[in-house]
Amino acid sequence: MKKNSIKNNRINGEFQKEIGLIIQNGIKDPRISGMTSVVDAEVTPDLKYCTVYISVLGDQESLDSTMEGLKAAAGFIRRELAHRINLRYTPELIFKSDASIEYGVTMTHLIEDVIEADQQKKAEADARITKTIDDLIKEAKDRVPFGALTVGICGHVRPDGDCIGTCMGLYHYLKQFEGIKLRVYLDHFKDQFLNVIPESDAILSEYDGEHLDVLFVLDCSSVNDHRVGIIDDPLNAADYLICIDHHVSNEGFADFDHIRPDASSASEVLFELLDPEKINANVAQCLMTGVVHDTGVFKHSNTSAKTLEVASVLKAKGADLSQIVNETYFMKSFVQNRISGVAYAKAELFAGGRGIISALTEEDMKKEGATPTDLDGIVDVLRSTEGVECAVFLYQLPGDTEEYKVSLRSNHELDVSVIAASYGGGGHVRAAGFSLKKGLEEAFVEVVRVINEALD
Ligand code: 5GP
Repeated sequence: MKKNSIKNNRINGEFQKEIGLIIQNGIKDPRISGMTSVVDAEVTPDLKYCTVYISVLGDQESLDSTMEGLKAAAGFIRRELAHRINLRYTPELIFKSDASIEYGVTMTHLIEDVIEADQQKKAEADARITKTIDDLIKEAKDRVPFGALTVGICGHVRPDGDCIGTCMGLYHYLKQFEGIKLRVYLDHFKDQFLNVIPESDAILSEYDGEHLDVLFVLDCSSVNDHRVGIIDDPLNAADYLICIDHHVSNEGFADFDHIRPDASSASEVLFELLDPEKINANVAQCLMTGVVHDTGVFKHSNTSAKTLEVASVLKAKGADLSQIVNETYFMKSFVQNRISGVAYAKAELFAGGRGIISALTEEDMKKEGATPTDLDGIVDVLRSTEGVECAVFLYQLPGDTEEYKVSLRSNHELDVSVIAASYGGGGHVRAAGFSLKKGLEEAFVEVVRVINEALD
């Protein structure tokens, strides 16, 4: 099966069209025949290369000289593409004559098979526990034999229940170790978690500039684009970076990565790395919060038998499941209920009812006294609309330039992580997101078009 096929179909089509236009209108090389057409374009899933298949109406000589001209113009075409196609990285162009299509396609499939096998191997390797948290702390202490070990813990921007739960679960776990100075950095802490997460007053909402011996980056798929809340430059803030995560889009960025895309939550991933003897009631309470939130109270398809086993242990260790579910998941403030109502009232169906979309502007939020942190769960309710496969929720981010946060959810078929990744975002197969620096109308139209194509 082709990896990233939704994204690639869309990107391939765009590349074929744009390269054709650039060749027709933008290049004045006499070697390139006026009868040149781009019959296909194939971008590799990692976006590094694009093979462009060329057909020339004419003889072999005209084909040869066109190919020569195109190879010489490859840099120019690539730069032009970078302006026209909104991708983080513009692939290198490889021109092939039409005759090589069959060979090219076979090669592409062979390469895809190798990539797939590699990814599978990587997933299996990642799933193996090579080091526990205790091992990692022991190693860190060996590197810093004198004085206390300074350990930071951070997560992604606008942390959700899983991010908060994982960070604070690790905090309570590490509190039991001697000779550690702990710091937890999260850019926001929602009031609904106040009574549920023990010692939330330990959380720093601003980076204090402390140089860290070790920094745990939890539930965060990337250190780029300010994805880490508060700490702008995590790679420089710490001598050693540890990433524990479950995002399928996470390619690894730390000195030690443990990424398990098959796990329901980062809390479930962390659980596996802990010594069960040291999981006390506080650790259990925090991790249960994470599992509850990322599984939508055990109802999303990411809830595996293993997730339920983990939850069972956490409950036995003292997690208060009903308090977590009631106070942090179902209970909403009056403002949250009102702004959710606005979003539901604005929702529109598209793609014959298989898609649903709603958007809130800063103005909408202002009117209700709401902030982006009040919008949790709206996209999940949209997704539960009868007949819907994909739900989209956009909300305007505060700031001077117009920018929208896009949340995507799917029910059964659509891999929304691939769509989010093609816009520089990330997430999971059924829940992903990205940001678009566009006005509402433009963002709305573009997202509907892309989801329409993906649902086709
Ligand atoms: P949500 O739609 O609830 O904001 O996010 C759904 C999932 O996608 C979460 O796991 C979240 O971490 C991930 N996600 C959302 N937005 C972004 C983004 O801009 N970049 C990345 N890398 N992941 C995102």
